[in-house]
Amino acid sequence: MSVSSVPKGGLNQGVIVPLIFQCPGDCECKSSQPKTWYHAKCGDPSFITEFGDILCKNHLKECSGYFFQDAFFQCQMSNKSNTWYQYKSQTFLLLALSFVINAAEFILENNDLNNFINQILKQVHKRWHN
Ligand SMILES: [Zn+2]
Ligand SMILES: [Zn+2]
Repeated sequence: MSVSSVPKGGLNQGVIVPLIFQCPGDCECKSSQPKTWYHAKCGDPSFITEFGDILCKNHLKECSGYFFQDAFFQCQMSNKSNTWYQYKSQTFLLLALSFVINAAEFILENNDLNNFINQILKQVHKRWHN
């Protein structure tokens, strides 16, 4: 699940990191454990860009990317009840991003990490829609 496996272009702009965070707050599993997310359509790992878009390595072909807020998540437990959950509040979104940033710390150099944090917070603020 290397970031270099994801072709540049389309929504893959700037720095991207693996999508690792917990379920949305209202998920029935009530778990706060961060996990790696896979794109439901293709089963490949998901990544998040500094602009807040989620994509997989097939994003230029059969899969499309989408803004974090518009994404639906299903963990093993919610899969059993066939329910999907979404981040509905900025508070939970920021909580999830703290896990993403934590994971990013292991793969980004200081400079890239600072840029990533600045940019993603700016973009969430700018692109969040009610
Ligand atoms: Zn869950
Ligand atoms: Zn995909």
